[in-house]
Amino acid sequence: MERRKVGILGATGMVGQRFIQLLSNHPWFEIAWLAASDRSAGKTYGEACRWKLDTPLPKHIAAMTMQPNVPEGTAVELPKIIFAALDADIARELEPKFAAVGCAVISNSSAFRMVADVPLVVPEVNSDHLALIEAQSWRKESGGYIVTNPNCSTIGLVLALKPLEERFGIESLFVTTMQAVSGAGYPGVPSLDILGNVVPFIKNEEEKMQEEVGKLLGRLNGKRVKMLDAKVSAHCNRVAVEDGHTECVSIKLRTKATRDEILAAWEEFLPLQGQHLPTAPSQPVEFDAAVDRPQPRLDRMRGNGMSATVGRLRECTLLDWKFVVLSHNTIRGAAGAAVLNAEVLALLGKLDKLSVNVAPAVAVMA
Ligand code: NAP
Repeated sequence: MERRKVGILGATGMVGQRFIQLLSNHPWFEIAWLAASDRSAGKTYGEACRWKLDTPLPKHIAAMTMQPNVPEGTAVELPKIIFAALDADIARELEPKFAAVGCAVISNSSAFRMVADVPLVVPEVNSDHLALIEAQSWRKESGGYIVTNPNCSTIGLVLALKPLEERFGIESLFVTTMQAVSGAGYPGVPSLDILGNVVPFIKNEEEKMQEEVGKLLGRLNGKRVKMLDAKVSAHCNRVAVEDGHTECVSIKLRTKATRDEILAAWEEFLPLQGQHLPTAPSQPVEFDAAVDRPQPRLDRMRGNGMSATVGRLRECTLLDWKFVVLSHNTIRGAAGAAVLNAEVLALLGKLDKLSVNVAPAVAVMA
């Protein structure tokens, strides 16, 4: 099968580098276009990027020339599929430009996550919400669209919550995060602020978690998502961990559940089974019965970084149950999530019949 050409916007950042790593040998997608800020345009990727991952930067990627970060004026043909890893303010300006010329923009940023006709999707949780694409103005005008994945802490959490919501309903939950430094991008949190320390504030993170859980676990109702009717309270902290967000969760269910019923709900949660999506983990929620797991260093790479690990399930004296969930923030929480979204879009035929319409580059006269 011929691989579909894809581009990466924000290719030099922490999430951008994960995209390179996950897409370099992807069976369905081929990296054909890279862009970041104006500082990077015109350089090779190897010159523009400080590669931070523990697998070598592929030579053919290092040699690629960074393109301008707008659809027009690129020296190589603009791919129809754009993975975006930009800060929200920049994404708000740039992503619609790509959707407007007919691209499928698969975004990591918070800029459009809560917009009514933009799907906020974790494939195991709510892939039916992808139907919202058809209501987008870009889709009607150019065929392009924007799809988003949630905040890196929300993804691990909703994977653990969805099987519980399906079987027992969720009335309220209280979550405290311990988030890795890579979640703040590169160079991120200064070492003197975080070494030997915990920072009990991450700007806008608690608000994002609280509202995104409601949309992800909400029901598609025509052209809108009816938010989940549950109270969510989040405390977000930055800790001196490189990769992997750990979250302590207390939950009140609508109907009583035993420990065995909760464990069965997690184990039997296999919504993508049989779909043969290259990035989908075989067990999206893995339970570890050890008293001291999950731990970021030991468990973040389960399912190639795409599984959420749950552990320490026990009764809660305030709500019903409490547990710990851990997931890899730049794989399951960002680039891997977006790649899985693209695989589902391919399966649904929503990457077919895209047609990119970019004005030819204007020759600059001397
Ligand atoms: P980052 O490491 O700071 O990377 C930012 C990227 O944006 C770089 O490629 C940078 O390119 C580019 N950029 C900066 N200014 C630009 C401009 N004016 N125009 C175009 N490109 C520009 O950030 P990150 O951690 O990868 O995060 C990217 C997005 O993903 C953010 O919205 C973040 O909230 C979200 N996210 C991150 C994580 C995580 O765990 N890190 C998880 C989920 C979601 P230059 O190298 O040229 O400056």
